[in-house]
Amino acid sequence: MKKISIVIPVYNEAGNLEALRNALLPLLDNKMYPAELDWEVILIDDGSRDDSLTIMNRLSSGDSRFISISLSRNFGKESAMLAGLDYASGNAVIIMDADLQHPVATIPKMLELWEQGYDDVYGRRLSRDTDSWIRRKLSRAYYKILKRISDNYVLPDVGDFRLLSRSCVNALKNLRETQRYSKGLFCWIGFRKAEVTFECNDRNAGKSSFSSRRLLNLAIEGITSSTTAPLRIASIVGITTAVAALVYLIYVIVKTLIFGESVQGYPTIICLILFLGGIQLIALGIIGEYISRIFNETKGRPVYIIRSINGDTDMCIEK
Ligand code: UDP
Ligand code: MG
Repeated sequence: MKKISIVIPVYNEAGNLEALRNALLPLLDNKMYPAELDWEVILIDDGSRDDSLTIMNRLSSGDSRFISISLSRNFGKESAMLAGLDYASGNAVIIMDADLQHPVATIPKMLELWEQGYDDVYGRRLSRDTDSWIRRKLSRAYYKILKRISDNYVLPDVGDFRLLSRSCVNALKNLRETQRYSKGLFCWIGFRKAEVTFECNDRNAGKSSFSSRRLLNLAIEGITSSTTAPLRIASIVGITTAVAALVYLIYVIVKTLIFGESVQGYPTIICLILFLGGIQLIALGIIGEYISRIFNETKGRPVYIIRSINGDTDMCIEK
């Protein structure tokens, strides 16, 4: 019998876990999909500060299909997902959020496409009504820029809610970078992709852990992890400014030779100094972003550390 793993990263979701279990039960009891399937639900506690882990451990001791893995601290959703992929043993793995924003009813559609031979069945959310107007516009603009400068195309409105075949999961498990941008990684590995659309529900309880600052960090991560185009852009801007400066230099020399020297031009000098200083700082910042990534990756630390599995701290496995 084929086995399906559901990987769910959990961070401060105490108010959602029971409801999540109840929503999943019909699927796990094979009442939502015609074929008989074996299921496992891997809940990864990403260093929650509420009762999430206690509830997860209770779920796993009451139902052997639930597995509760606890990380030693908050490593971030991206790392928690990798922990889930490492541990999942199914023929296919479904990744979903714990806050019930991803409807369980979409999963049978994903399974159908998987059985038709697709490897990566991703969910695209239909409306972004839950987001503010400005966030929607910013997100559109961001994906446009990313599409232009990145080598692989990251799809807008597509997140981590998806089904991955065993070969996709194995490919992803080989990508051990610590600063992860999964959306980019899903595209990078390739494979046959199919789309299902879903209506994104409101969060069941609690609030989103992705503040504007965290989203900005993730946005920068998305660019620096998938392309070195900003470095190229910095070089092009540098060359253009240098050429413009050379033309201006010739003009100034010729003018001085013909009309003599004058002490005017103070505002021009100040503007040029500030403008060029700004461009230099931006270029340094861009280089810094890439150096910090090199620094973090050369340390070669594990992406996450497991503290306990199903409440048992002796079961710690080193990954
Ligand atoms: N999450 C996590 N670690 C974090 C932040 C979030 O594992 O540091 C989990 C969270 O429990 C949820 C999923 O990632 O299952 C999505 O988080 P959230 O709902 O806060 O994000 P949003 O839906 O607003 O993008
Ligand atoms: Mg959410």
